[in-house]
Amino acid sequence: MTNPIRRCWLLFALLCWHPAATAELIPDPRHDCEYCEAWSRAGEPFRVFGNTWFVGGGLSSILITSDKGHILIDGGLTQSAPQIAANITKLGFHLEDVKYILNSHTHYDHAGGIAALQRASGARIAASPASKRALERGGPMEDDPQFGFGPEHNNFPAVANVRALRDGETLRVGDIAITAHFTPGHTPGGTSWTWRSCDRGDCQDMVYADSLNSISAPGYKFSADANREKAFERSIDTVAGLKCGILLTPHPEAFDLDAKLASRAGHPTVDPFIEPGACKVYAAGARERLTKRLADERAMP
Ligand SMILES: [Zn+2]
Repeated sequence: MTNPIRRCWLLFALLCWHPAATAELIPDPRHDCEYCEAWSRAGEPFRVFGNTWFVGGGLSSILITSDKGHILIDGGLTQSAPQIAANITKLGFHLEDVKYILNSHTHYDHAGGIAALQRASGARIAASPASKRALERGGPMEDDPQFGFGPEHNNFPAVANVRALRDGETLRVGDIAITAHFTPGHTPGGTSWTWRSCDRGDCQDMVYADSLNSISAPGYKFSADANREKAFERSIDTVAGLKCGILLTPHPEAFDLDAKLASRAGHPTVDPFIEPGACKVYAAGARERLTKRLADERAMP
């Protein structure tokens, strides 16, 4: 027979017990858009290389781990946040060990999940000054090429307490050292990130290159001012010039994720993710599209 005090304790323990005992993620309302369903498909998390992990699905989210805490890049759509959190847990890591959340660019499909992930993890956010403004607003600023699509299409949950970074600044968590390279063009605050990951003595230069697509809302011209055009071209040069062992990008198609995974499943002798020329190829594609876009704009009446 249990005595009443013991029964009380049992009840208390049952009420308080939580299976995973991890941070609770409360997602923001889902974002609807033409591609949102495909973008929010869940993905199996996997190791890219060394301490670099893919924890996204139809959109990229990258986790870099250390003994002293982790760094997460990109939060996908609002509805991606629970999947990212679940993927981190599935790999055996804890969301509350994420010390920094970073971002490629401040569009709803890469920044939408950040607010919820920040609330659940307590992570700090660091971004370029232009991205900080957009993150804190919860939507692109007026100088964003896609601003004209309007708030209903563009906006995402605002992110608080964003620390502004300098171009070329390196952030450190444990033995992770990640450097911000400002690559404006697709958005004014767009940022590419580089770090090194090692696996049994083999170290690779990791690059998370931001989107470099010259896409805009109707009426916006990349050629409207020479500085804007030059800045975009400089960003493409920056990505082409990065030390590049493994290229990752915000949209997984842009680095052929599915093909690489399929190839890796065949246990090739060379890891298909290691592709030293990939940043130059990626930049060349962006340059070709920008050149065509600028020519089209100049041909317009
Ligand atoms: Zn975008």
